[in-house]
Amino acid sequence: MKIRLVVLQPTSLCNLNCLYCYVPGRRDARIMSEETLEVVIRAILESDLVDDQVEFLWHAGEPLTAGLPFYERAVELIAAHNSHARTVWNAIQTNGTLLDDTWARFLAGHRFSVGLSMDGPSFLHDRQRPTWGGRGSLARTLRGLHHLRTHGIEPGALCVLTRKALLHPDALFEFFHENSIRWLGFNVEEIENEHRTTSLKEADTSMMVKEYRAFMERIWQLWRSCAPDMVIREFEDIVGLIADKLENPSYMRAPYETEPFRIITVSRDGDVSTFSPEFAGAASVQYGGFRLGNLHRESLAAMTASPLSGRLSRDVAEGVRRCRQTCAYFDFCGGDSCPTNTSKTGPWPQPRLSPAACIAKPLRTWSWRPLNAPTGNGSQPVLCERCDPRQGAGRYRCRDIR
Ligand code: SF4
Ligand code: SF4
Repeated sequence: MKIRLVVLQPTSLCNLNCLYCYVPGRRDARIMSEETLEVVIRAILESDLVDDQVEFLWHAGEPLTAGLPFYERAVELIAAHNSHARTVWNAIQTNGTLLDDTWARFLAGHRFSVGLSMDGPSFLHDRQRPTWGGRGSLARTLRGLHHLRTHGIEPGALCVLTRKALLHPDALFEFFHENSIRWLGFNVEEIENEHRTTSLKEADTSMMVKEYRAFMERIWQLWRSCAPDMVIREFEDIVGLIADKLENPSYMRAPYETEPFRIITVSRDGDVSTFSPEFAGAASVQYGGFRLGNLHRESLAAMTASPLSGRLSRDVAEGVRRCRQTCAYFDFCGGDSCPTNTSKTGPWPQPRLSPAACIAKPLRTWSWRPLNAPTGNGSQPVLCERCDPRQGAGRYRCRDIR
């Protein structure tokens, strides 16, 4: 297995103060030095451990606060050190508030894909994603969206589901539909690193699961009835998994997050971790902060052979093994929630990795229900002939379910 995704943190600084943010050091204005940037890019692109196609995702903190010259240098260095002629994609996850015409032109010119963090209409977004001064940020994010589109970039949107958001599926869907968002993903508000609680805890677990199911089923109805040209990640994923299972009954999902060195995360100082990017910077006594080494001093190959890497790999594999033995949803999940949950729930040191407390388990039960629910005209939804692999065509696409 080779490295496919490199998550880079140019800075932890952020101009917003989102209620659920888990990133430490958001008022720390230091950015990755040019020396570290070059060391990191060279080490990755010259390593035999990297796939022929690799994505650099600039993320964690607000990456645009590192400034345009930082990224201009980054793309120069990628071109200069790409001695194996790998295909390198750049992606950036941003709150969008700093985007202007110059940024958008640069991102379009270098074919960055862009993810915008947006929580829906003002009563959700502005409340959940304020500036440090307490002002809402939606107007600036929408202005950023406009600049991107002016330069031909169609960003995806990531929306955090708080308890309040779960109660307003119609308003949320309408917002993304009206703003012509073509790709949308929902992230449930989690307890993670700096974020020590979640609004979902306002309800007990069975109520929260009920609300989540009701939310997703309503989004499913709205999406189908409006038939927009929109991909919703959660539907796309589950329908793809069902297709894989129908094609091959022994299919089991194998998420990158459970494979060592499929994903690496590189901090501002050049520290490296693997498995879930959420391990990076987590305060873990048991795993030494998940820090496998620093690219100023150690090669990626040396990191893969380190005792910590071996121990972490064994423990994640053990967590996945337990999932496989105990969870009815394993084939569709692959166990990526349990191992990563160890970093989110603290305190450290944790007991053994365990699926017992996996919140993903009840949440995943929703996934079959929309597909089994009656359609508006009373018939069962079916997978269209064109996309049914048993009929000899390719993968299902969510929008092909009618
Ligand atoms: S924009 Fe991102 S990094 Fe900044 S506070 Fe919000 S969630 Fe955190
Ligand atoms: S839903 Fe949770 S318990 Fe089940 S396989 Fe996934 S991570 Fe493991």
